[in-house]
Amino acid sequence: MATPAHGLTHALTIDVEEYFQVAAFESRILRQHWENLPSRVADSTRRILDLLARHEAHATFFVLGWVARREPALIRQIVAAGHELASHGMEHIQVTRQSPAAFLADATESRLILEQTGGVRVRGYRASTYSIGQANAWAFAQLAAAGYDYSSSVYPIRHDLYGWPEAPRTPFWPSGATGVGIVEIPVATLDLFGRRYPCGGGGFFRLYPYRVSRWAWQRLQHREGQAGVFYFHPWELDAGQPRVAGLGWKSRFRHYLNLTRMETRITTLLRDFRWDRMDRVFAEVIGARS
Ligand SMILES: [Zn+2]
Repeated sequence: MATPAHGLTHALTIDVEEYFQVAAFESRILRQHWENLPSRVADSTRRILDLLARHEAHATFFVLGWVARREPALIRQIVAAGHELASHGMEHIQVTRQSPAAFLADATESRLILEQTGGVRVRGYRASTYSIGQANAWAFAQLAAAGYDYSSSVYPIRHDLYGWPEAPRTPFWPSGATGVGIVEIPVATLDLFGRRYPCGGGGFFRLYPYRVSRWAWQRLQHREGQAGVFYFHPWELDAGQPRVAGLGWKSRFRHYLNLTRMETRITTLLRDFRWDRMDRVFAEVIGARS
């Protein structure tokens, strides 16, 4: 096994949701049908747990409250393996579609369900589809009120579905949320000649050859000397998931591209760099509450 080239430890995060809960499928698989669909997330998440155990790595699992209700044993297994349990909201509704009051209720309910199921304190929150941006930065104060210590809900890039390109690339205390003690820890991006590129996971990681990601993360380590946040989903390792009919080409391409290569790529990523839970990698910023 190759030794990680640098002493930096990065944060590995997994957004635990079913394949049919992604935003791109919402017009094809209606909410009222979710309960009738067989779960695939538990098996895929257990594969990830095995993978992490083999590499002695720990991660943060941002889990939907909906999944925690359906798969309580999985939640306990995540906690028992030494990973951090965090919230991905109740039902994967983008924050941009929620009122401040509804968002507060949703964030609070998911935290309570996860804490009751996992038996641990939940400190972190990730918004569905990175749906916190400049227009709804009120969400940070709601997250603090809902009992969270940190958020990792901003992708500070320009993208057609999400992104807050003007946001800092490194942990920041959102204005308006100072004094309520919540820090935002954005997903990793690469700054190249003044332009930002995504390198924190998702479609980017599956689209380009692995060496592009390795180069990006090595550059983050050596040039910037900062810990980054990487994310992926259990459904990205589930090449056997049922194919959803009637999707546009873009959604189809983004969702199904290179699913069979994902496990090998994650394995290589685990070997090439050092990874840990968000609450440990960013202990200083999360702890430094104003
Ligand atoms: Zn998600």
